[in-house]
Amino acid sequence: MRYLSTRGHPDRKRFCEILLEGLAPDGGLYLPESYPQVDDATLTRWRGVYHQQGYAELAFEILSLYIDDIPAADLRALCEKTYTAAVFGTGEIVPLRHLEEGLWLEGLSNGPTLAFKDMAMQLLGNLFEYELGRRGEELNILGATSGDTGSAAEYAMRGKQGVRVFMTSPFGRMSPFQQAQMFSLMDANIFNIAVKGVFDDCQDMVKAVSNDLPFKRKYKIGTVNSINWARLLAQVVYYFAGYIQATDDNRQKVSFAVPSGNFGNVCAGHVARMMGLPIHKLVVATNENDVLDEFFRTGVYRVRGTADTFETSSPSMDISKASNFERFVFDLLGHDGARVKSLFSDALNSAGQFDLSSDAAFLAAAQRYGFVSGKSTHADRLATIRDTWQRHEVMIDTHTADALKVAQAYRESGIPMIVLETALPIKFSETIVEALGREPDRPPKFEGIEALPKRVHVMETDVATVKRLIADHCGY
Ligand SMILES: *Cc1c(COP(=O)(O)O)cnc(C)c1O
Repeated sequence: MRYLSTRGHPDRKRFCEILLEGLAPDGGLYLPESYPQVDDATLTRWRGVYHQQGYAELAFEILSLYIDDIPAADLRALCEKTYTAAVFGTGEIVPLRHLEEGLWLEGLSNGPTLAFKDMAMQLLGNLFEYELGRRGEELNILGATSGDTGSAAEYAMRGKQGVRVFMTSPFGRMSPFQQAQMFSLMDANIFNIAVKGVFDDCQDMVKAVSNDLPFKRKYKIGTVNSINWARLLAQVVYYFAGYIQATDDNRQKVSFAVPSGNFGNVCAGHVARMMGLPIHKLVVATNENDVLDEFFRTGVYRVRGTADTFETSSPSMDISKASNFERFVFDLLGHDGARVKSLFSDALNSAGQFDLSSDAAFLAAAQRYGFVSGKSTHADRLATIRDTWQRHEVMIDTHTADALKVAQAYRESGIPMIVLETALPIKFSETIVEALGREPDRPPKFEGIEALPKRVHVMETDVATVKRLIADHCGY
């Protein structure tokens, strides 16, 4: 398997070469040259693999189709080490919960940080440690977070050989629960940095460090952002696991509803569908930040400025542009790298938007790729959380509520609708209290975490200070 850039660069790379890289040299995103096809017999065999051997073995089967530069025994061991009941709470790893006739919730948020990013990040931590060990290299991950991504990265990388994490976050802006989750980590390779500013200041500091190329090279600065292909690949597995749990015959189709931000999660669903998984619809759900809904309704992709990016009660979907969207457009336009480049580097940079509304490919998108979309608001979230609690005694978080709300419009009889649960309600208790008048249940292992000792470096928005912190702790 070789990987190529969505912007037409002639290089072809192998999995472990792109694992530790961010963007391709031309600014594009990596994709496999082609999607391996899963035939009927294989899908039937995978049913047995999942039910009898478990999620880790299913992950190994799927990853093996894309990774041919890690020996099979090693890859299997990495999957087994990652997807355990101890880490993800149940033997199913991604259990399906039945809500009502034809409607299911797939639980992706039972990992260490109670959000679906653990599904991919936990594997990434083990892959990084393995590959860095093989090369005898080190990596210093520098990131900015306003919540889920940073904690998922820290819990994935804690205690890993060869990796340090320097994670900036806006001082005092994360919820007490989120702060406790991150700042209570005492591992020597994890550095929490609370910056006296807003999230954009954190991001600007990270960019400034990364743009200092000599510093970046000397201190081996890397990232774990959502454009990493390995993260996306790890997410493909739970579409298969969801399908296998909801059906018992390969002639059945299912739809998935996905609370979307950077388009990573639903893009993994697209990959599963391209591999032949019988997915009917992929329902892209957005909140008030409706860049993606606008595209799927109108064909216009228009990135938003800071002033038009809203802070909502489903904050992990508050995006101004969708960083993985380019991958889908590359498929949509028949792998025309030159055209993707002109849209994403020229049109977006000059006009802030592009328009595919009169393109035959866009008109066929719903038919050919199954994509449909919708948008949900704060009032919709409250109503959906309340309704799900009252009718099913199931408490869902705000992001899952966005997906469930939008899913309702696309249910069809005879086709199960699987709504992806991307976080547990405890992470967003303020809105739960607003909707239900009570606090969400707290998993026992998070009892009292706000009272734990905290380890965090507080600093001004100053690039030199963060560089000094990194240099001081690297010892080279
Ligand atoms: C990151 C996140 C999302 C959005 O996922 P994308 O892959 O960026 O589309 C949705 N819900 C939660 C809880 C998240 O943390």
